[in-house]
Amino acid sequence: MTHPTGSTLLQGRPYRNSASTDVRETWKRFGWQPRPRFACVTCSQCGWAFGPGDSGFSSCREHAGLRPVED
Ligand SMILES: [Zn+2]
Repeated sequence: MTHPTGSTLLQGRPYRNSASTDVRETWKRFGWQPRPRFACVTCSQCGWAFGPGDSGFSSCREHAGLRPVED
């Protein structure tokens, strides 16, 4: 039994939309959470943690306007 790529991407749910659809918008509409690459990203300048994300920050300018997670 094989699974099409789209089915895997959508966590086994039926793939309803064309490839041009922004998959993150689709996830948001159905209440699904995209899986970030890292469980917690940090800034290497100040050391603050910002929670799940795809990449960390190398300087404080890159996270201007974001709030660090309080833990
Ligand atoms: Zn910083």
